[in-house]
This record gives sequence, C-alpha cells and structure tokens, in this order.
Amino acid sequence: YTRNPRNTNATILLMGLRRGGKLSICKVVFHNMQPLDTLYLESTSKPQSEQFSSLIDLSVMELPGQLNYFEPNYDSERLFSLVGALVYVIDSQDEYLNALTNLSMIIEYAYKVNPKINIEVLIHKIDGLSEDYRIDAQRDIMQRTGDELLDLGLEGVQVSFYLTSIFDHSIYEAFSRIVQKLIPELSSLENMLDNVVSHLNIDKVFLFDVNLKIYVATDSLPVDIQTYEVCAEFIDMTIDLDDLYLESDKHRQLNGEAHVNTNNDDESNQSELKSISHLSNGFVLYLRQMIRGLALVALIRSDEVESMDKSLRIVDYNVSLFKKALMRMWENSRLIKDSEP
Ligand code: GDP
Repeated sequence: YTRNPRNTNATILLMGLRRGGKLSICKVVFHNMQPLDTLYLESTSKPQSEQFSSLIDLSVMELPGQLNYFEPNYDSERLFSLVGALVYVIDSQDEYLNALTNLSMIIEYAYKVNPKINIEVLIHKIDGLSEDYRIDAQRDIMQRTGDELLDLGLEGVQVSFYLTSIFDHSIYEAFSRIVQKLIPELSSLENMLDNVVSHLNIDKVFLFDVNLKIYVATDSLPVDIQTYEVCAEFIDMTIDLDDLYLESDKHRQLNGEAHVNTNNDDESNQSELKSISHLSNGFVLYLRQMIRGLALVALIRSDEVESMDKSLRIVDYNVSLFKKALMRMWENSRLIKDSEP
C-alpha cells in the first residue's frame, strides 16, 4: 500500500436524487458529451468512480440517488472521510423539498465524519427557468437549507451554491471553482497570475485545463462569463487547428520532408503549443501551453496596433517566467509531499 499524498482530498463526490442530472454532468464536463445526447442516458444504480489528471489528480465519484449510503454494510464513513468536495445536485425544474431534506441529512453526516469537506450545491437545470425565477429559486433553496442546518445545530457549516445548466458554460464555471478549492497551491498560483497581469495590458488571465475546459486558477479580478466563454472557445479552435497541423505534418513526414517545430522555445526543444488571435474589437487572445495539460489563456487589450508586437514580446517573456515558476512549484510541492511521513 503506497500512500499518494497528492490524491488525498482531491475526490469529488456527486450526489443527489435520481434524475437530478448527475450522470449528465459527468458526461458533459468530463467526457465532452453533447448536452442533448444526455436525454438518452440510462441512470445507473451502481456507484461509479473515475480518475482524471489535471494540475492535481482528481477522482470523481457518482452515487446514484436510490442507494442507501447509511446502510451498515456500505462503508460510507471511509468514503466521506476521503472526499474533498461533496457536490449535491438539485433539479430546480422539479419539486425540490425532498432533495433539501436529503441534502441536510447528508451534510449532517458528512460534516461529522469530515469537518473539512467542502459542501457545494448545484441548483441545476436552470435553463428551463426565467431570470426572475432563477433568483427566487436560489433564494428559497439557500433560505431553506440554512433553516434546516440551524435546526440540526450546524449553522456554522459553509455551503456554496451555484446556478448551473449543462446547456451553457455555467456548469464548467461551477466546476472550475469547485476544483480550485481542492488545489493546495491555489493562493500562490493566483498571486503569480496577478503578477503576470499587473505589468501588462492584460484584462484577464486563466490557467485552463485544456481537456476539461475548466480553469484551475485565474487572477483576482472578477470572472465575466463571456470572457470565460471566449477563452474556452479559443482553446477548442487552437486544438482543432493544431490537429490539422499535426495531420499535415504527418503527411509531410510520410513524404520524406523534414519535421519542423515552429514553436521552439529557447530553453526546451519540445514543441510547445502557442496561439495568438487578433480580434476585430482590438483585443488579442493569447494561448500558451503549460505543464500537465494546462494552458495559459489571456485576453489582452491592444491600444495601438504598432506597439502590439512589442507588447506580445513582453507578454511572452512574462509568461515564460510564469511557466518556470509553475514548474518549480509543481516540483517542490511534490517533493515536500513525498517526504512527508
Ligand atoms: P441522474 O439520475 O442524477 O444521473 O440524472 P441524469 O444525468 O440521468 O439526468 C436526468 C435527465 O435530466 C436527463 O434526461 C438529462 O438530459 C436531463 N438534464 C441533465 N442536466 C440538465 C440540464 O442542465 N438542463 C436540462 N434541461 N436537463 C438536464
């Protein structure tokens, strides 16, 4: 039995009543399924667990609604003690009072076993609700949960609420924030990103997980969902183009031509994905590959076109420094943790 300290508390447990949307969320966020295809998903009755490697190693578990976690033969105590985030999914389009009773029962249990657990509530399927109704539903659910916790003597427990839907970016935004809380180095990462932003004309910078399309860190300015969307779509576009390039590269190699790396960095001889796009509104999108499936994506303001080349060189330089710091941080945190008893 080897203990891997990096894995502790990076487990996300998805719970909620049947048909709330748990499986759909897993498929859309972690497997790139098209939201409409979830209509035909068969709910399973067995607990499922999957592993993902992001900046941290994540493990995502889904517990079907009808399972009784508090049966003596189900080792829920061990399970909850290993979980970093409990994500409870509430179907906002359905009658949710039962879900709220179930939620407070689970919070009571989870908190007792593991007081450090993050409790995250998704008020889900909000695509079917009008703007006014969304806010009412959120207020009502928060109020009732607060009352239930008060009755249980658990008023000190922190619960975070998110309005989500698989039909827009809100589910990725929520998971970004849920995953971030599980990263021990988050505040250092945010400081480093603030440093990148502070010297440059950068409006917003994200450290994205390219596969999951969630951001594991961002600078401390508030996140505007449209900026997030633009950056996420830029990643897709860059990857599509890169695949094309790889294809034509393969083709060229097959034809006996030399392999050319366009993005060679001075300090590494591996090709590093990088992409820059000038938008018609004067902004520039900047993407650069980091470590562990991450990419730094920035939205840059360009005041004058002539000075843009120079600005981009400075951005490049600062992002290189950031990447080195990130690699160092990653190595150090692994070393520190590996040497723990
Ligand atoms: P589970 O039993 O909690 O795993 O729920 P499922 O993932 O099987 O989802 C139940 C139904 O809800 C499916 O038909 C999904 O298509 C639908 N669903 C899931 N998420 C959303 C959402 O954000 N909006 C809407 N309108 N439907 C959703």
